Amino acid sequence: MLIKGTINLFKGLFVVFKHLFKRPVTLEYPEKRRVLNDVFRGKPSVNGCVGCGICQKVCPTGAISFSKDENGKVIEYKFDLKKCIICGNCSFYCPKGAIKMTREYELATDNVNNLTLKYKGGNND
Ligand code: SF4
Ligand code: SF4
Repeated sequence: MLIKGTINLFKGLFVVFKHLFKRPVTLEYPEKRRVLNDVFRGKPSVNGCVGCGICQKVCPTGAISFSKDENGKVIEYKFDLKKCIICGNCSFYCPKGAIKMTREYELATDNVNNLTLKYKGGNND
C-alpha cells in the first residue's frame, strides 16, 4: 500500500516537473492578449438590414428579433446575447451581408440590459 502510494506520488511529481520547462499555454489576461486569428467571431452587429427574416430562421437559439413598420421598414433590430452562441449563421446566410461578426469578445457585464444589442432601423449608426 505504502509502496504503491509512493510510486503514484512520484508519477504525479514527474508530470509536474515535465511541464515546468514547457512554455505556458495561458496568458496573463487582461494585461496580455492573444492575437485573434482572421476567422475569429465576436459579438454580431447589423447594418443595412432589409427585414427579410432569414437570419431569424437560421439562428439556432432564437437570439434575433426585429420589428417593422407598416411599410415593411425595420424599426428596431435586436440580438439577445443571453442566447447568442456566436455561431455566425446569421452573418453567413444574410443575403444583404448586413450582419458582421465583430472581434469584440469581452462581453461580461453586471447589467443584464447590456446583453440586448439594439440597432435602430436595422443600422448600427
Ligand atoms: S439581417 Fe439580413 S437576413 Fe436578417 S432580416 Fe436583415 S437582411 Fe434579412
Ligand atoms: S451568431 Fe448564431 S446564435 Fe448568435 S444571433 Fe447569429 S445565428 Fe443566432
